[in-house]
Amino acid sequence: MTQITEDSIRSAIQHVDWKGKNIVSDGMIVGMTFSQEEQGTKVNLIVEVEPGKNAELDELKKRIDDAIVSVDGVCASAVIFTAHKGGDHKHEHRSHDRKQAPEKLRFPNIQRIIAVASGKGGVGKSTTAVNLAAAFAQKGLRTGLMDADIYGPSIPRLMGLSGTLSQDDNGLVEPLERDGIKVMSMGFMIDEDQPMIWRGPMVSGAIMQFFKDGDWGDLDVLVVDLPPGTGDAQLTLAQSIPLAGAVIVSTPQDIALLDARKALEMFRKTDVPILGIIENMSYFECPHCREHTNIFGHGGAKAEAEKLKVPFLGEIPLDIEIRQKSDSGAPLTLSAPENTISAIYRAIADKIWTA
Ligand code: ADP
Repeated sequence: MTQITEDSIRSAIQHVDWKGKNIVSDGMIVGMTFSQEEQGTKVNLIVEVEPGKNAELDELKKRIDDAIVSVDGVCASAVIFTAHKGGDHKHEHRSHDRKQAPEKLRFPNIQRIIAVASGKGGVGKSTTAVNLAAAFAQKGLRTGLMDADIYGPSIPRLMGLSGTLSQDDNGLVEPLERDGIKVMSMGFMIDEDQPMIWRGPMVSGAIMQFFKDGDWGDLDVLVVDLPPGTGDAQLTLAQSIPLAGAVIVSTPQDIALLDARKALEMFRKTDVPILGIIENMSYFECPHCREHTNIFGHGGAKAEAEKLKVPFLGEIPLDIEIRQKSDSGAPLTLSAPENTISAIYRAIADKIWTA
């Protein structure tokens, strides 16, 4: 089968212009991934465009699609547009300047937006976000879950959801839904195992679009799974989205806590209330003798929370069922609500909600 490369795709679409700009030479292509299907290669393309009318964008999409599928070996193409609206570009460049922080956007139909953050990847931030959203939904709250972790969008897998997001005539994007939880993720548009390469400012641009164009309806709570770390994208989000507060997930080791502290500092600087710290993978309980083993140490997050004078929300054990259930798309809190760990997630969700 013909080897598809970025260059071959770029040359296939190099004749496409949009509003006086060339989509290739003017750097409008901000992401390209490939996935192998039975019939050939599927090309996923993310293009940054000036906002335009839907009919015009449909026409542009068709031109790009046609050019891509004409390449030998390509069986399908998926084109996503991301657009900056309302001068977001300016915000990107000023994001470090507190005095000129962007104005917060307003989402009158969403009561509370709660960010789940971590100083680094792999600490169980997404798993925690999913289970907290499940716990909120079980409390009877109208719940949304937004995967802002566009570098590694794992929410579709963790929620056992697959499919593609569709836009209505007004350009609003319909979230997918499971157990009453409305879910949006870049993962519905690109493969999780295809690493996306984003130019810095595009990250917050793409995430912001989920907020602005998402057809969330009326929500009591929207849980946002932030990208790990404390870069510009997180900062812009913290400044532009009216967050009710942030929850920080950390493992107990010093090194993880050091990163968690940075995350906490970022929210403090942007006046986002810290709802508290969760210690994930806190201890291992032997399923046979019930003895606790502290694989990564234990209690570090609690001590840190006390030191930093922020609430400590609870400890989630390192547990095989959490891993198996979340990685197979059946979050524990949804699939085994009677499990003691599901009760821990619910207790944490209660504390967050009260706060
Ligand atoms: P992050 O969002 O911080 O990158 P994830 O939520 O994707 O982390 O979790 C990373 C891995 O750790 C996943 O395989 C997940 O199932 C597993 N995991 C998360 N929390 C726990 C836990 N408390 N016990 C066991 N495995 C966990």
